[in-house]
Amino acid sequence: MRAEYGPAGVASGEVRTWHIVRGDTTVAMCGRELDPGAETRDASHWTEHPDLHCHSCGALFLREAPYLPSEHE
Ligand SMILES: [Zn+2]
Repeated sequence: MRAEYGPAGVASGEVRTWHIVRGDTTVAMCGRELDPGAETRDASHWTEHPDLHCHSCGALFLREAPYLPSEHE
């Protein structure tokens, strides 16, 4: 997953939306191009910030991996 930032950009440190990306690409699953300098995280963190999720990426991602580690309980 890779962060999308607000108008102030990466330097602001304020993540606006988390997208799912494959490997080292900067294009999210929903098609949005993200800043190469944006923060990245392992996809296992996807469920930590539900308010900041890209809904398009979430739908595509969950269709591929319906069982996230945090959903096993
Ligand atoms: Zn997205």
